[in-house]
Amino acid sequence: MKKKIAILGSTGSIGKTTVNIVKKNQKKFDVILLTTNKNVKEIIKQATILKVKNILISSKKHYLLAKSKKIKNVKIHNNLDNLNKIIKKKLDYCISAITGLAGLKPTLNCIKLTKKIAIANKESIICAWNLINKELKKNNTKFIPVDSEHFSIWSLLNNSKKEKIHKIIITASGGPFLNLPKKRFKKITPKKAISHPRWSMGKKISVDSATMMNKVFEVIEAKKIFNLKFSQLCIIVHPKSYVHALILFKNGLTKILVHDTDMSIPIFNSIYGSESIYYKTNSLNINTINNLDFVKTDNKKFPALKFLKKIPDKSSLFETVLISSNDVLVDSFLNKTIKYEDINKKLKKILNISEFKRLKKVYPKSLKQIIDIDKKVRLKTQFYI
Ligand code: NDP
Ligand code: MG
Repeated sequence: MKKKIAILGSTGSIGKTTVNIVKKNQKKFDVILLTTNKNVKEIIKQATILKVKNILISSKKHYLLAKSKKIKNVKIHNNLDNLNKIIKKKLDYCISAITGLAGLKPTLNCIKLTKKIAIANKESIICAWNLINKELKKNNTKFIPVDSEHFSIWSLLNNSKKEKIHKIIITASGGPFLNLPKKRFKKITPKKAISHPRWSMGKKISVDSATMMNKVFEVIEAKKIFNLKFSQLCIIVHPKSYVHALILFKNGLTKILVHDTDMSIPIFNSIYGSESIYYKTNSLNINTINNLDFVKTDNKKFPALKFLKKIPDKSSLFETVLISSNDVLVDSFLNKTIKYEDINKKLKKILNISEFKRLKKVYPKSLKQIIDIDKKVRLKTQFYI
């Protein structure tokens, strides 16, 4: 039987990688839905190649543009809130790869509509893991994290009890500015910030990698998914990005997981799991494992790392403040409204606003609460730009 699948955010970096994996073994899949915000050309191309029944274009303008093209055998939709009207039979697999908090509601909705969900959208996990986890349990949906570090931790743990874990070390590539003297940070342009030395990713996450905010996000993400304490998690810089996670167990063993810097590896494994379909035969590069190179993180050069100390141990709405404000600031940097170093400076101010600091004690109870805070924080951040 063919696997029924959906790819949310199919025109992005993760989405395209997923489409390529599916394309290689097309007869195994029945692609029920692909979604994009604006990329009409790409989604139509994907739909034609994969013989997709439904595509969804979130931007009204671009939806109308696609409608006017009258594409044969493809239904075109516009509303991400109506996924249950498009996906009528339970999917076997869905990947959540929309960027930002725009991905939260569709992720929550898709959990009800699929047997397995692979979540790349880290913003949803950071702001709403308790809501996601509740839906996963309620609907008996299998969850696989796709962020490479989390996929590695998940694979290494292989269902072992969290009581056995002493510490988890998350590796960071250090991004494009690891060796750039701090005094030259003033001149960093968006073009330079999105030129990641190891990974090819969407613009937003590439800037987060450059500031190392991405690692702050990943520690919070790991804490939530694996139900740990912050004191059990730390970051180490590993520019070669070959090791993705290290787990120190209480029995004296340490496990590490290595793979090439290619997101198709976690995505491929999230699709096929234990099935006898293989990625490719590994060839071990001796030079790489002889020179793994780990260095300590530098909080002075990458002040975003200090924000981790501000995050409360118990899940709260404060995580949404961090995500939403950073999102607006990164966008403003990409649009050249603010400078690279202003991202952290302005974020620090926003996180210190007492109205937001109070949210550290508020447990996220509903999607509406998160969306309301997101709106408020976005407005406030705009005001500070
Ligand atoms: P991209 O920016 O490359 O792609 C994002 C996708 O979401 C695109 O299809 C985009 O459509 C769509 N989208 C964006 N905004 C909206 C919106 N408001 N409504 C509906 N759809 C929208 O992002 P990435 O693929 O890099 O990242 C996706 C997610 O995965 C992020 O949360 C990121 O943090 C996470 N992630 C990514 C990794 C990577 O290697 N790229 C690694 C680990 C995690 P359009 O094409 O029209 O813009
Ligand atoms: Mg990652």
